[in-house]
Amino acid sequence: MAKQILILGGGYGGLLTALTARKHLSASEANITIINKFSTHQIITELHRLAGGTIKEQAVALPLQKLLGDKNVNIIVDTIQEIKPNEKQVLTSSGAVHKYDALVVALGSETNYFGIPGLEANSLILKSASDANRIRAHVEARLDAYKASGNKADATIVVGGGGLTGVELVGEFADKLPEVCRAKGIDFGDISIYCVEAGLSILPVFPPVLIERAVSSLEKRGVTFLTGVAITEATSNTVSLKSGQTIEASTIIWTGGVKGNQVVGSCGIAEDRGRATVTSTLQSTSHADIFLAGDCAVVFPEGSERPYPPTAQLAWQMGETVGYNLSVQLKGGVMDKFVPVFSGTLGSLGRKDGIGTIGGKNTQLKGLPATLMKEASNVRYLSHIHGLFALAY
Ligand code: NAD
Repeated sequence: MAKQILILGGGYGGLLTALTARKHLSASEANITIINKFSTHQIITELHRLAGGTIKEQAVALPLQKLLGDKNVNIIVDTIQEIKPNEKQVLTSSGAVHKYDALVVALGSETNYFGIPGLEANSLILKSASDANRIRAHVEARLDAYKASGNKADATIVVGGGGLTGVELVGEFADKLPEVCRAKGIDFGDISIYCVEAGLSILPVFPPVLIERAVSSLEKRGVTFLTGVAITEATSNTVSLKSGQTIEASTIIWTGGVKGNQVVGSCGIAEDRGRATVTSTLQSTSHADIFLAGDCAVVFPEGSERPYPPTAQLAWQMGETVGYNLSVQLKGGVMDKFVPVFSGTLGSLGRKDGIGTIGGKNTQLKGLPATLMKEASNVRYLSHIHGLFALAY
């Protein structure tokens, strides 16, 4: 009888698990079901562009049905409420109980607010297509309010966090808002865009020369960076900084960090600070029938205490390893060990500028080559998942 494979999450880890498992397991060998809270697979590395308004939602939210419809994978749109590893059951918010022979947990990460007062209640985040739509609508509404009242807070945007999410987002604002302002009859010179970073520098993953490039490119287009100052509190229209400064802003977007998924961290499988610990074959260190892919797991390079970063490229690769290892678990053979390949890091600075490192940090890119490389990397991913139709939008 066919075994039941249940995959929680339809992001990079979950989708690539399903696609790879299906290559190695026929329908008579395994029923494969994905449960995801959206009906779409979302390209989160491009969400900043939807938030800025330079692409359409269909370019970043690809129907799972369209990607998996001919692969004999069941798709259930529901939210995971509880995983019961010892009973081999998963409960969802619709009240359904799902049983499994093998489980893949690929539920991603959650925003970390670090307990900063007022932040969660008063900030927007960028973790899904609907978050991106919310940001775009909010910014536009505040600009309309500014036009009506002249209240400076309505013309001020504060992005908390100078990691790649925050910097790519201010890059889109810097590119797109001049046009939006023109259409609304507002002087773009009245708009303030802040990126506040607690660390001494934005984008510490990049070498200094590329960080300087990012700062100068974005400052020229109207972004103000405040570095070495943490956000300590937020209200609906103020952001307080550790330096004692208060910025009046009615748009606050928080990109200050991620943490493990609460459903995963609390379900009873082995974890480390809320992220599931895994063996070299990406099985839970406490439950061999549970595999992990993506940000909800923590993977340490051999002999290192510093885990790999929670990135899309690693989630994708973990999904492929898990997909193959599932087939080994059900049919026998030798499981693959997870050996990540780092193709590099690319960050956009708006539509026409970018920075990147390829492979190790020896090859550095800036300007058009980085922008083109980032676009190529998106096309490569879409092609890999047979999602090139998204480029039509
Ligand atoms: P991050 O953790 O990389 O960056 C968050 C930043 O917020 C940090 O620099 C931190 O110092 C800062 N911060 C924390 N608390 C703060 C405070 N109180 N006030 C001000 N600043 C504060 O988070 P991210 O940018 O969302 O990225 C998450 C992961 O996803 C990373 O591994 C990143 O590389 C990856 N990512 C990659 C891409 C890409 O490849 N283009 C894009 C986005 C994210």
